Amino acid sequence: MQNYLNNYNKLEKYPEIYQYAKEFNVPIIMKESLELIEMLILKEASNKKEYRILEVGCAIGYSSLHFISVCPNVFVDTIERNEEMIKVATSNFARYGFGRINLIKQDALEVELPVEASYDLIFIDAAKAQNIKFFNKFSPFLKNDGMIITDNLYFHGCMENPEEQSKNVRNMVRKIDEYNKFLSNHNDYITTFVPIGDGISISVRRGINEVNS
Ligand code: SAH
Ligand code: MG
Repeated sequence: MQNYLNNYNKLEKYPEIYQYAKEFNVPIIMKESLELIEMLILKEASNKKEYRILEVGCAIGYSSLHFISVCPNVFVDTIERNEEMIKVATSNFARYGFGRINLIKQDALEVELPVEASYDLIFIDAAKAQNIKFFNKFSPFLKNDGMIITDNLYFHGCMENPEEQSKNVRNMVRKIDEYNKFLSNHNDYITTFVPIGDGISISVRRGINEVNS
């Protein structure tokens, strides 16, 4: 099904950035997940004056460039700590960013966002073992009607057969599973886990009007 339906999906917007990622093993988001997120952004951004995104884990800017390509009123703050990635992302943003992407060159856990910062979408895609910390640190900056999307919750297929993996991978699997549990048990957020790409979650704040079941 995936192969068949993908024939109908859009062409790559930044072929040379995509090629670079493949050549240097930069773990960019998978096409199907990206298409879904772009669709959600488009739908939401068309009803707003500005649509603001915080991305945790920029790498070479592949996902953030796709996000801003959806609609001219989309703005991204994206966080990256790796020097090499920062270099490449900076040059990609200079060419294609239209001044709408702000790269924060720091460890995400050390970043101090201005108190007035607020986002329509927070995209968590950095060190997977830190997901709970990222969620707790940045979720206060989410607008009431915003959403938090996390990537790689299927961890390249490792979630289903951890016993066959190395100790490091098993540790990572445990951490990601803890995060998935944390999300599904969260009192303030409703999360759906979408088995697309490498697995993403979409979390929204529970509303005061929510129907109790
Ligand atoms: N979102 C990108 C891919 C990000 S890959 C895309 O889909 O195109 C994950 C990136 O997160 C790596 O470049 C890594 O250096 C960065 N990263 C991991 N932990 C981080 C942290 N604590 N602070 C900032 N960046 C981090
Ligand atoms: Mg990812």
